[in-house]
Amino acid sequence: RAKENGRNGYQFYTEGMLDRELRRLELDKDLNKALAQDEFELHLQPQLDLTSGRVNSAEALIRWRHPDRGMIPPFEFIPLAEENGRITDIGRWVVDAACRQLAQWRNGPLSHLRIAINLSGRELDEDDLVDTIQRALSHHEVPASRLEVELTEEIFIQNIEHNRNQLMRLHELGVHLAIDDFGVGYSSLAYLRDFPVDLLKIDRSFITNVTERRDDATIARAVINLAHNLGVRVVAEGVETDAQLQFLRDNHCDLAQGYLISRPIQPLLLEQMLRDEGLLVSE
Ligand code: C2E
Ligand code: MG
Ligand code: MG
Ligand code: MG
Repeated sequence: RAKENGRNGYQFYTEGMLDRELRRLELDKDLNKALAQDEFELHLQPQLDLTSGRVNSAEALIRWRHPDRGMIPPFEFIPLAEENGRITDIGRWVVDAACRQLAQWRNGPLSHLRIAINLSGRELDEDDLVDTIQRALSHHEVPASRLEVELTEEIFIQNIEHNRNQLMRLHELGVHLAIDDFGVGYSSLAYLRDFPVDLLKIDRSFITNVTERRDDATIARAVINLAHNLGVRVVAEGVETDAQLQFLRDNHCDLAQGYLISRPIQPLLLEQMLRDEGLLVSE
């Protein structure tokens, strides 16, 4: 009997693993068609400027509308795309889609909005990344200052010279650079001195319990002070409660992003929301 249980237990385990592996293989295959079939969407999550009480930037987060499986979140396909190299084409699509959106807003009430796109280290490896971005900006006639790129601390660990060159070139174009998930990577602080950083995004894991845990509060405050002393602005990620927002105001954080303000939503809905709630920047 014990043996039987053991066998069932084992079987159950391998089935779970097989399911996951099969799903992965299928997604891998489908990923090759997704671009051609126009299945990706950029959703936008606004960042609230705590000084003005307005919104002048939004983060672009990619979604895959799979014909059979519905909406697939990035953690299920971005790592796959990094492995099979498809990330390069996806990245190009993201850059183009963001610039296209900025161009659409150019003459309306959202003309001041900036879009932040996420780039993985693998995308920064690509020698023609900066040219791709520059071409998309000029094709859509969008000023570089409307675009921001978010990268995680992994870029400070490998290919440092190459990465610094790429980011210096982007900086010279006028593209803003944000360090995403700040505080959870294994990188040296010296890179904040050596790289052209405009923004630090405090990782959500420090914000979740920031009003209950003294150590999280201490870390959040330290990151805000560090950034300000370096002349860098700070965004808090994953803000979900009024108490967290109040903490961030009290401690002079520059921007807040999270479900409290809005989930990532389709551009049209964002436009509507900003208009309805009077959050637009008036010139
Ligand atoms: P990230 O750049 O750190 O994005 C923040 C993630 O936190 C997003 O998940 C967002 O939906 C989620 N989030 C925002 N506010 C809250 C909140 O208040 N509470 C909670 N629990 N979560 C919140 P998402 O959209 O699933 O994206 C996950 C990651 O996938 C991103 O992390 C980013 O690293 C990557 N990613 C997304 N879009 C792209 C893309 O276009 N290109 C690349 N290379 N990576 C992308
Ligand atoms: Mg991000
Ligand atoms: Mg993040
Ligand atoms: Mg992340």
